[in-house]
Amino acid sequence: MTTAAPVYECVACGACCAAPDISTLNKPLGVPCKNLGPDHLCTIYEDRPAVCRNYKPDWICAEVAPLPTLDARVARFLEIYGLGYT
Ligand code: SF4
Ligand code: SF4
Repeated sequence: MTTAAPVYECVACGACCAAPDISTLNKPLGVPCKNLGPDHLCTIYEDRPAVCRNYKPDWICAEVAPLPTLDARVARFLEIYGLGYT
């Protein structure tokens, strides 16, 4: 018997476009991507780089997305990955 893996939907919380460092975009850790719009949607979605295209929602979305602010979501995202600002 197999158990289907849970499917996570992106709810555009913005955390994965703000928390990690993304060298392709010269994006530092913990700083929102310059292409992230105020609605937490990507403003270059059709032209976003492969690293963004390949990112898939996972259990971390369920952890971070319900948090009330982008700052809180970023902090939790970095905490989960064991990344910090120091
Ligand atoms: S962390 Fe998950 S829910 Fe939030 S924007 Fe990224 S993929 Fe979407
Ligand atoms: S380019 Fe778009 S999808 Fe990639 S990190 Fe920036 S805002 Fe997010």
